Amino acid sequence: MSDIIQLLPDHVANQIAAGEVVQRPASVIKELLENAIDAYAQNIQVVIKDAGKTLIQVVDDGAGMSLTDARMCFERHATSKIRSAEDLFSLNTKGFRGEALASIAAIAHVELKTKPQDEEVGTCIKIEGSKVTSQEPCVTPKGTSLCVKNLFYNIPARRNFLKSDAVELRHIIDEFQRVAMAHPSIAFSLFHNGGELFQLPSTNHRQRITNIFGAKTNEKLVPVNEDTEIVKISGFVGKPEFAKRSRGEQFFFVNNRFIKSPYLNHAVSAAFEGLLKEKTYPSYFLYLDVNPKSIDINIHPTKTEIKFDDEHALYAMLRSAIKHSLGQFSVAPVLDFDRDSNLDTPYEYKNKQAEVPKIEVDRSFNPFESELNTTSIRSGKSHNFRKENTQSWESLYAGLNTAPEADQHQFRQVEFESEEVTGKLFDDDHSGSEAGTFQLQKKYIVSTLKSGILVIDQNRAHTRILYEELLKNITIAAAVSQQLLFPLQLQFNTHEIEMLKEIKESLEQTGFIFSNIEVENVEITGIPTLISESEVSILLEQLLSDFENEVPDNGFSQTDLLAKSLAKGMAVKSGTLLNSTEQQHIVNRLFACKEPDVSPFNKSVFVTLTVDELDKKFT
Ligand code: ADP
Ligand code: MG
Repeated sequence: MSDIIQLLPDHVANQIAAGEVVQRPASVIKELLENAIDAYAQNIQVVIKDAGKTLIQVVDDGAGMSLTDARMCFERHATSKIRSAEDLFSLNTKGFRGEALASIAAIAHVELKTKPQDEEVGTCIKIEGSKVTSQEPCVTPKGTSLCVKNLFYNIPARRNFLKSDAVELRHIIDEFQRVAMAHPSIAFSLFHNGGELFQLPSTNHRQRITNIFGAKTNEKLVPVNEDTEIVKISGFVGKPEFAKRSRGEQFFFVNNRFIKSPYLNHAVSAAFEGLLKEKTYPSYFLYLDVNPKSIDINIHPTKTEIKFDDEHALYAMLRSAIKHSLGQFSVAPVLDFDRDSNLDTPYEYKNKQAEVPKIEVDRSFNPFESELNTTSIRSGKSHNFRKENTQSWESLYAGLNTAPEADQHQFRQVEFESEEVTGKLFDDDHSGSEAGTFQLQKKYIVSTLKSGILVIDQNRAHTRILYEELLKNITIAAAVSQQLLFPLQLQFNTHEIEMLKEIKESLEQTGFIFSNIEVENVEITGIPTLISESEVSILLEQLLSDFENEVPDNGFSQTDLLAKSLAKGMAVKSGTLLNSTEQQHIVNRLFACKEPDVSPFNKSVFVTLTVDELDKKFT
């Protein structure tokens, strides 16, 4: 038999290695940022187009490379960071594998411009699919600029595998934030399609966090500091009352490297025990410094897990350090000497007279007209059930403009013995039994059927009703919105803003009107008639957290997720007292739904008990 084994050509080997290192544009950003940091850059600028699919450029003012190094850096296993295996145990750099640039150059069009401080001219090298296409001297400032175009141009399968721009951009922002948070003394900026997403000046940890997550964040932070032989812990945890509904703001950095650690996360949760509301997660930004020898640094380039020598001790220290800080914070207010004066009221404002706010009045608004035209009352709040009038239930459905009569025709699945809805609805009837329904434990609505009884979970039923209505609004007919007299100002961070922009159109179909969407300043001038102003921020926060956890991939699942999330937030909760009119209304609406038997989350909405079944129980 003849020999058949051959060594792979370099460019093929590189392409295979690239599959490991570069999964998506965000991985390129991470590698290039880390290289710039390893080169002692003080200013790093990132420019991307089309979420990095078309262009990723990272410009730094670091050490730069000599002509020979500029050629060498694209070779596999070419690195200036370690020389021998021992160096692996005292690693202070981000990179050490010498794989990133070789991998990136194998799967994209790359242009490198670089110049060390003491050289007159720099070097410009163009390389495509591992082949150098041009190399010439060039005029360029001290430092390195790496331009990566058309990522995966020669691997169509990988390119097609990329998600929508919105999703890829979210990954990029994640990576960017993680690196920026670990290195507050370095200035970073990020531009996407010509627009500025981040401009982060050189500063301390606290202000870097505030610059990324919004000025409001500053007052939420409790400092954590602990210095022991095996670990130095610094950073911040969020005050318990600001705990979020998502895990979005939880960060561990070990030796300035972002890591994920369910085990340490557990230690933080343990420290917060008893302080948090249900289903909320504390924010934390924790920096651990350990001896490089005590961790397994041979971590995979794309992995964020890490192995510690002494995990148990670390757990105990982390928990007690946080507990201690939380305890201190609750007895004494924290003085913050590092506060960024830019975030305070500007000096010249201090002596200014307060301006009287201008009130704008819609003169064409006629309250009587609108009440005649629509049966809805706009000022109601969906949690106002205890109000002793019938207006409260109406607000549940206001703006959904489905005539009650129309619903009657759709009662196919279940036949009711309850009275005709129209007319009866407007009575102030609280006895319940007369209307054929009653509420059990403020949780279930019980109604009679010809053949038995029906027990409905009020929360799930209402979620189903709202879900279908919202879906209809988003896909077919836009909902009416209630105009706010004073626009609502909300604050979100860059990450959340990107998600919000993504779903803005669908949200507007449900009745939201955004007059401005910018970091730190989201202005809302109209909201769906179904919700009250005070609920808006919590609904949107929940919505964004759902989006963060699920990352819908296409338009359909996005709409679906949006409707589910809003419906969940708006539906009456278990434990809410409903009067008979409200009960009836839920029953009627439910059976006008396309799928009344299951909630949008696939849980049963009601159970029936037939007379036959009852008879059996009495035998
Ligand atoms: P690694 O970072 O693991 O060493 P890379 O492939 O990322 O491997 O980079 C190879 C080498 O190129 C680095 O070791 C470094 O010497 C050089 N290099 C890469 N990026 C830069 C940069 N922005 N500034 C200066 N040198 C750089
Ligand atoms: Mg590197």
